[in-house]
Amino acid sequence: MPSPRRLRPHEIETFTQWLRDRGADVLVPMSEWEVLRFVANDQTSILYRNKNDELTWTGEADKAWAAFKGRRKWQAGKTTASGNSKRRPQKLHALITRDGKACWFCFQELEDSEITIEHLVARSSGGPNHLDNLVIACEPCNAKAHTMSVAEKVALRAATAPRHHGS
Ligand SMILES: [Zn+2]
Repeated sequence: MPSPRRLRPHEIETFTQWLRDRGADVLVPMSEWEVLRFVANDQTSILYRNKNDELTWTGEADKAWAAFKGRRKWQAGKTTASGNSKRRPQKLHALITRDGKACWFCFQELEDSEITIEHLVARSSGGPNHLDNLVIACEPCNAKAHTMSVAEKVALRAATAPRHHGS
């Protein structure tokens, strides 16, 4: 599906390395819609693509991409992943390092105090308590997802994503 704003794979690779060289904390994408996820200037920035291969940028991603294309200066500055890490429980720290600090469902950036940990497969249904089954969620989403199946949770996230691009 060609699109004028589509990224070529080698461009993503070069951009990723460019971000790392400037101190950004490049994280693992959390869904098939994420092309790139990184932490810079104290926020998680994400590059999404939709079904039509159109791109959406959040946080610093737009600024960084413009600097990358224009060969201008850009620095990652403070990375959330390294801040306050000593005071966090290990599991929470690992989740933040993997996913950033946004709610898995609504993509809202959260403070440490607002973060809850959600089991994708509920523990009452035999869901394991290890990282593969855990995501960060805000309190309202956690409550909303409480009685949902995994499929319903994924649908909830997918329904929320397009409404929360840009900032
Ligand atoms: Zn949420």
